[in-house]
Amino acid sequence: STKDTVVRATLFPGDGIGPEIASSVKQVFKAAEVPIEWEEHSIGTSVDPQTNSFVTFDSMESVRKNGIGLKGPMTTPIGKGFRSLNLTLRKSLGLYANVRPCLSIPGYKTPYDNVDLVTIRENTEGEYSGLEHQVVKGVVESLKIITRHASLRVADYAFQYARSNGRKRVSAIHKANIMKKTDGLFLQCCREVAEKHPDIVYEEVIIDNCCMMLVKNPSLFDVLVMPNLYGDIISDLCAGLIGGLGLTPSCNIGDNGLALAEAVHGTAPDIAGKNKANPTALLLSSVMMLRHLGMVEKADRIQKAILKTIEEGKYLTGDLGGKASTTEYTMAVCEHL
Ligand code: NAD
Repeated sequence: STKDTVVRATLFPGDGIGPEIASSVKQVFKAAEVPIEWEEHSIGTSVDPQTNSFVTFDSMESVRKNGIGLKGPMTTPIGKGFRSLNLTLRKSLGLYANVRPCLSIPGYKTPYDNVDLVTIRENTEGEYSGLEHQVVKGVVESLKIITRHASLRVADYAFQYARSNGRKRVSAIHKANIMKKTDGLFLQCCREVAEKHPDIVYEEVIIDNCCMMLVKNPSLFDVLVMPNLYGDIISDLCAGLIGGLGLTPSCNIGDNGLALAEAVHGTAPDIAGKNKANPTALLLSSVMMLRHLGMVEKADRIQKAILKTIEEGKYLTGDLGGKASTTEYTMAVCEHL
């Protein structure tokens, strides 16, 4: 029976426009009869001593138990003595890879209409290891950490992702000609993993050349895998190619195959509570979540309905130049299902 196949997933509606766009996802999933039961969690109003942050221990347990979740944007509380929300999530759930598909959206004009690539960013080390100090006055040092363990893990994920999403090529992005040891080790690990996947084309591209190729012709790329800092920059560059952060979904991959999908944008306080937010990025993030669960047919159907609604152009939200409310846009997506 269908009852057996119902999957429980954690939902963080988040703050600002979060609850409005999360409600849009719930409506679309209902219309598409997606067999998901949401376990809703909000971030706390005080610091939870077990996580030392506003993220509650219960909500972390929920994601760990379900292995799958969707997160709306959250306001970063300002103050001292606790960990940021994103750092807490990353550390507690072991989120080691950030995946961002960038797909041209027909009907939303940008200088490019042929983008269909995925960036996979190592998310735990590199220049972002937080190891900086002053050596003597006027001289500071920052340590870039690259480990075999983290590099193999993210490379493995990139090839697995390519395989399960019908992608043909993986490009490792690096600067190993200068960063011989660190990026050299990263590349070495990518090569080892590539050898186990002879059916997927593997190539290595130096980051500066990669930037030039991306802005000249993004269709040269398929799946890109890279260390933390390069991934931070290149993934935003790629979001810009398709029209910005409002349309870009993402998914974080963690320990034991756990996945936490989230929109890339923030809480948009300027339009929160006004029924004006564009739910596309969170909807496309929920589509990534479904693909991760292997619910490919549902994922394809929802993605097509979203693209069709935008292409038709009758019910676009303000950020895309239209006049529709979040609710009207959501209804249009449901109708296209
Ligand atoms: P933002 O992304 O919230 O907003 C930037 C601009 O884009 C605003 O004009 C906003 O109206 C618009 N915008 C963003 N998403 C939109 C959507 N879905 N539909 C229509 N318009 C949209 O960035 P910000 O203003 O720098 O940050 C606001 C808050 O969000 C801060 O507290 C920040 O810490 C937080 N934030 C959270 C996350 C996260 O939880 N992942 C990410 C970024 C920022």
